[in-house]
Amino acid sequence: MSCPTPWAWLTAAHETIKKAGWQRQVQTTSGRVGPCITLEGQAVLNFASNNYLGLAGDERLIQAATEALALYGTGSTGSRLLSGQLGIHQALEAALAQWKGSEAALVFSSGYLANLGTVSALVGPRDLILADAYNHSSLKSGAILSQAAVLEYAHGDVDQLAQLLDQQRGNYRRCLILTDSIFSMDGDAAPLGEIQLLADHYDAMLLVDEAHGTGVLGPQGAGLVAQLGLNRDWVIQGGTLSKSLGSLGGYVCGPAQVIDYLRHRARSWVYSTGLSAADTAAALTAIQIIQTEPQHQAQLWERVIQTKHAFEARELKLFPSDSAILCWDLGTLDQTVARAEALRKQGIFAPAIRPPTVPTSRIRFSLMATHTSDMIDQLLAAIDTTHG
Ligand SMILES: *Cc1c(COP(=O)(O)O)cnc(C)c1O
Repeated sequence: MSCPTPWAWLTAAHETIKKAGWQRQVQTTSGRVGPCITLEGQAVLNFASNNYLGLAGDERLIQAATEALALYGTGSTGSRLLSGQLGIHQALEAALAQWKGSEAALVFSSGYLANLGTVSALVGPRDLILADAYNHSSLKSGAILSQAAVLEYAHGDVDQLAQLLDQQRGNYRRCLILTDSIFSMDGDAAPLGEIQLLADHYDAMLLVDEAHGTGVLGPQGAGLVAQLGLNRDWVIQGGTLSKSLGSLGGYVCGPAQVIDYLRHRARSWVYSTGLSAADTAAALTAIQIIQTEPQHQAQLWERVIQTKHAFEARELKLFPSDSAILCWDLGTLDQTVARAEALRKQGIFAPAIRPPTVPTSRIRFSLMATHTSDMIDQLLAAIDTTHG
């Protein structure tokens, strides 16, 4: 006789995952992060990282982190409101605010936690959230946690957003519009100009997640909000320290009143330990580099354009992209997975992204400033070899 366990349901749950073809597995890399890595013992070209400017492996970030470690120690030892506030946190927040053109900034332990805490602090049960259907999981989780009414509009559909605002805005106290600036699994941009006009007209707050826009777009890499010249006294800009900034952590930039409120009410900030000194110093150094060395952003875009042209020349279909994320549309799930595996055998690491993460499968290439032109040629040679 088998004893019932509280985990018996997992057998069926795993079976469901398997049947849908949704199993995932982790793969271990070794050596320093960069465009060439060792993955499960195999040397590969890396088209799977968010390290857009290559800064996660930059000597200057490593040195800044090392110095901060020696100065402050490893952990910050407490929440920011208790013992965890380091001088370097304030320096990072000042740099972020200046860079993003906002009055103030607040850093969190991750981008996920920044969105979770910010969304759930800004709205509550009497309020309305309007959100792009393709938004990042962290915005969606923040919306659920807030207990506000959540209505999603179809991806990028400003007409539907306008309609929802028109029909629903009056029924709620506050309204918050949530969107990624660059959508993480597609690489396309949100129509932020139109969204801001609507937010303005309907007295709604606007939170834009710049995780994939920061470092990639805009003057000094300040992001899509800066590139489009949106009103930065007013828009809330969120993002992560873990992509172009090569570190770990998240941030929110916005009006000083908003940031001050978050220090009181964002639970993922109030009740979570402050960022480590090493991560903080690395991010601060990354901002200084991005602001003063435009060549990294320019180099990244050279690679993006080179890759797009090569796909076009081969009549291979890419999803529309406004960023360093290029998604190859291969049609079916089976073809996508098979092709990603074939590429991997050729030493190209680019994941097949599939349901339930996205509605339709694709191979997602994420480009870096530290990819050389020759590395892109190697990618294309591998694509040609595995063709058919
Ligand atoms: C990666 C990402 C996050 C989460 O940032 P972390 O610092 O990795 O937690 C949030 N939003 C978007 C759009 C992202 O792509």
